Amino acid sequence: MLAFNHILAGSIVGAIAPAPLVPFIATASHFVMDILPHAYGEEPPYSRFLKIQIGADAVISIAAVALIFILFPEQWLIVGIGAFFGLLPDFLWLFWKRGPKWLDKFLDWAHWIQWAEWRHGWILDGMYASAFVYFLIQISDVI
Ligand SMILES: [Zn+2]
Repeated sequence: MLAFNHILAGSIVGAIAPAPLVPFIATASHFVMDILPHAYGEEPPYSRFLKIQIGADAVISIAAVALIFILFPEQWLIVGIGAFFGLLPDFLWLFWKRGPKWLDKFLDWAHWIQWAEWRHGWILDGMYASAFVYFLIQISDVI
């Protein structure tokens, strides 16, 4: 799943879940999201297609973070914490096949649940993001 969707899903958790539970539910949201069919991924070295996808994902992710601050001027901290924990598990990929065995086991599982990745899956990612942004606007502080 592209990073911006983890940020948006985590933001929704931050906005609606009880604050002490936000880190846990947002982290769990990551794996629920990854079960859904989504964009294609690769291990380095990346193809040209994947470099473009990563670049677009980074730009949209920055826009998603900006949107949180615009929509939740009162609750930005807890919404931001949700966004952070929603995305956090993806940083573990840096240690895949490089870290301890237990982490590899966990990451093999995290890889396995992503059973439906396909080249045009970014279209699905765009649809999920549209629904999330629509919902975030509905529950926002400002609109
Ligand atoms: Zn992931």
